[in-house]
Amino acid sequence: MKTFVLSTLSEEDVIRLEKDCNLAVRLQPDAGRIDPRALMDGDQAAYLLRDLTDRLRFPSLYVTASLLLKQYSYCLLMPTLYAMTLLDKGLKVGADNCLLEVTFPGEGAWRARLHLKEREVSSPEGSDRASWREEIVGAVFRDHLAKVIRTVSRVSGLSPTVLWENASIYFYWMYETYMPGKAGEEKRSRINEDFHCLLSAHPSLFGERKNPLKRFFCEKCCLPGCDQPVRIRKTCCLYCEVGDGQLCQTCPKRRCR
Ligand code: SF4
Repeated sequence: MKTFVLSTLSEEDVIRLEKDCNLAVRLQPDAGRIDPRALMDGDQAAYLLRDLTDRLRFPSLYVTASLLLKQYSYCLLMPTLYAMTLLDKGLKVGADNCLLEVTFPGEGAWRARLHLKEREVSSPEGSDRASWREEIVGAVFRDHLAKVIRTVSRVSGLSPTVLWENASIYFYWMYETYMPGKAGEEKRSRINEDFHCLLSAHPSLFGERKNPLKRFFCEKCCLPGCDQPVRIRKTCCLYCEVGDGQLCQTCPKRRCR
């Protein structure tokens, strides 16, 4: 077991994660809460999926599972990877330290934010950053997200491939678009380095036989009607079952020029 320097997340970093990554520093008293451990338990996950399906009037457990994992992946990965790459801080994202705050503003909408019970963080100071990064990647993917995906897939019947692609899309967006837009020139090589290290990381860090981030990564292409190149999905995310019937920009049914 390697040891890294431990400290508490500074107020400045907390404010930054709240602003840039939607971290819930204080839980709203009237908001719903999802304990990640409930999404790792078959009976509790099935209950939660049925409850969300009814509340949001979604047409099936498949749709709820896909949209839940979109929100969940975003809320979990965004602060964790942002803190790792831009702040050199390893958040404590074990299932027992996290809560998902959920609110329902109405008209079928819902919002979620990650809350951390304890703000202890590790940093790579004086140690090998690559090993430190591996610890964080294993903790957030193999020990947390993969377990949620496995359980939600099993109880909903939706393939884990769809759920992993939902998560991977946020990962690409964070490193290709969001973080470069938030950081100065001096952080560009770090963003690039972490992005490529995660894309080529050993599958065991994800608890999978293949690295899921690499699996869905491909060149972007130009589509008629889109002004920016897009990366076409390999699986359908089922979003159009609850949207206004429009195809997603990255829908696999669209054709590249
Ligand atoms: S637009 Fe395409 S990818 Fe999006 S939900 Fe519909 S079929 Fe699936």
